[in-house]
Amino acid sequence: MKVCPGCLKEGFETFCNPCLKKLFNGKKVNHILPFTQPEFNEIRINQSEHLSISGIQIKHSLKLEKKKLVLAETGGEYILKPTPIGSFRNMEYTPANEHLTMQLAAQLFDINIPPNAFMQFQDDYPAYIVKRFDVLPDGNKLLQEDFAQVAGKSEENSGKNYKYDFSYEEIAELMKKYISAYPIEIEKYFTLIIFNYLVNNGDAHLKNFSVFRNTEFGDYTLTPAYDLLNTSLHISEESDTALDLFKNNYMTESYKHGSKYAKDDFYEFGIRIGISKSRIDKIYERFLNKESSTESLINRSFLSDELKGKYFNSVQDRLKRLEYSFNDEK
Ligand SMILES: [Zn+2]
Repeated sequence: MKVCPGCLKEGFETFCNPCLKKLFNGKKVNHILPFTQPEFNEIRINQSEHLSISGIQIKHSLKLEKKKLVLAETGGEYILKPTPIGSFRNMEYTPANEHLTMQLAAQLFDINIPPNAFMQFQDDYPAYIVKRFDVLPDGNKLLQEDFAQVAGKSEENSGKNYKYDFSYEEIAELMKKYISAYPIEIEKYFTLIIFNYLVNNGDAHLKNFSVFRNTEFGDYTLTPAYDLLNTSLHISEESDTALDLFKNNYMTESYKHGSKYAKDDFYEFGIRIGISKSRIDKIYERFLNKESSTESLINRSFLSDELKGKYFNSVQDRLKRLEYSFNDEK
């Protein structure tokens, strides 16, 4: 089966025209990179308390020269992520995993993401490519800050585990403080939190959420989403979510009984961060009726057949949790 390595539509040997336009301004770039997988320096796996896939990822900066992608010391327009180095399972499938997860986010849940694709080196090794969203067409850069920076947290002042020592509720509080379009942006954020849960992204930590800072007005807006992947394919003992939903160790009755986040938790979370019950219903409903379209996109991805099955099973497990309400069953 041949699919577009951008959008995974069937019937293409390489990129479809809409993907060429989105990714490469319409230039006919091939999904096979003009170089082999570079030699990577051996990196010592970060021995932090919480194993993080992103912690051992080498990223390359690329730019487009005519129809060719070339390595860029400066002025990079793309980030290329080959297979990360490490001893987690199925590492050679992380590029396919990230690409699929980003496509699910965009195509099925309207989550704002940068253009991205699944690429191959000359020697067949896979890589994930994503267009940098902090670089404007004229080459100027937008000011981007992740939420560790916004929260003023670093390893120096908060210890090795600083990226995980926070809650999604507290991120929302920071958003409320800094983002003037909060009512719009908070729904995007809420959608992303549920999506991460659906696809078993257990590594959505403080640095995986960012804002653009408007230097003229000192105001912020959320950046597109990034670094989304189903971590359960690679790490078995990862926690369900990188951060707790609630601050101060708050637990719903449902969580106290089941020790897993379910519908009541996401509703309580939505209310706490200022979304109305009717808007929560609307956003939540989108996640409950996408099972077959999710399966279809998974099956067109570049994962192995075994991992396609694992990916879909893990989504089905999460769907069951998202559907379950302790309050309704009382
Ligand atoms: Zn396409």
